[in-house]
Amino acid sequence: MKRLIYDYLVVRFGEIALKGKNKKSFVIKLENDIRHKLSRFSRLEIRRHFDDIEIRLNGDDQDQVLSVLRRIFGIQNISPAIKVENTVDAMCEGALRIVNEENGIRTFKIEARRKNKQFSVHSDELNRRLGASVLKNCPEVRVDVHHPDLTLRVEVGYRETRIYGHEYDGAGGLPVGSSGKVLLLLSGGIDSPVAGYLLARRGATIEAIHFQSPPYTSDRAKQKVVDLSRRLQSFGGTVRLHLVPFTKTQLAIRDAVPEDYRITIMRRMMFRIAEKQAAATGSLALATGESLGQVASQTLESMNTINSVTNLPVLRPLVTMDKLEIARLAKSIDTYDISIRPYEDCCTIFLPRAPRTRPDPIHAGRFERALPVDKLVEDAAHHIETLTFDGSQEDIFSNLL
Ligand code: ATP
Ligand code: MG
Repeated sequence: MKRLIYDYLVVRFGEIALKGKNKKSFVIKLENDIRHKLSRFSRLEIRRHFDDIEIRLNGDDQDQVLSVLRRIFGIQNISPAIKVENTVDAMCEGALRIVNEENGIRTFKIEARRKNKQFSVHSDELNRRLGASVLKNCPEVRVDVHHPDLTLRVEVGYRETRIYGHEYDGAGGLPVGSSGKVLLLLSGGIDSPVAGYLLARRGATIEAIHFQSPPYTSDRAKQKVVDLSRRLQSFGGTVRLHLVPFTKTQLAIRDAVPEDYRITIMRRMMFRIAEKQAAATGSLALATGESLGQVASQTLESMNTINSVTNLPVLRPLVTMDKLEIARLAKSIDTYDISIRPYEDCCTIFLPRAPRTRPDPIHAGRFERALPVDKLVEDAAHHIETLTFDGSQEDIFSNLL
């Protein structure tokens, strides 16, 4: 059986630390996230401090807890730790315990720091004394101050001293929900889920909106966005998915708009409906998976013509990324395999042979005069079906309106 050498995992916050007066509310959000995500571990004790969150393991599995923590946004890094009394002897003993039980350590370095400046032994002196004690008792290890296998960080506090083992990277970013809500236009493709992940990482709560055109699009296409939403939920808090019936709008566009402007007008209709839904859900921005120049509808002219129908900011986290980089990221967050399942995208149904790469907003506006724009938007918005994914076994399915 594996020996348990560490009693605690200490979580450090990264960027939250820069948030000045708001720091406390950020840290409380992070603490709530951590409690929620670790709720299946029954023995843990979680305590929030000014600079970190301390998790006492009480025998729960360190590696499992660590792997959950590493997916929570807002965490910079995590270190397993033990606590000892504030005496040099106890620190020596603690350092020794860790070096002895960490497998395969050949070189080490001590990095002591006094939070408690009243403690009479200074950091340099502590480094020397603890280092000497380890060397004396463990002849097989030596000191390497540049590239040690293990840096033993010793932090002298007011009541006790923590000694940390390895430091593990966290997911970075900001706690989910700390940046407000964004309405993500989620297709079944590779790009938009990645855009959602990057926004969740920056603290946004994701509301997703998907346009479907049954019977031209099937349940398989819907299942893809459901699975993608679940995947996004595993990183973020709750994700709500709004499914918009879009067939009527697309048929109206096909009948009234010249072929080369259909994609442009379709996107403008998506933005109009999304803007309405953003207002209904308290979302302050729209987001897409667009990347500059990737396809005809993603030129700057297209973005202008499409953007001009909404006053909301449209966030495009992937705008500067290459397809290969996006695909790599999609693989690392486990959305890629879902995205490449074959399906019918509502956009591919009426795909023009040659979409206009530099559409003009004035022309677009003129073509739209042949469409009952307001009525189509109103009608689609009224028939939205909303699914909620909150990570519980049974996700809640409900109609919003
Ligand atoms: P993706 O891989 O995200 O589908 P894409 O490279 O296929 O993107 P487009 O088809 O031009 O690019 O779509 C651009 C963006 O428009 C998508 O990233 C997505 O945000 C949005 N979008 C496209 N189709 C839909 C849809 N059916 N429902 C919701 N949003 C959509
Ligand atoms: Mg697509």
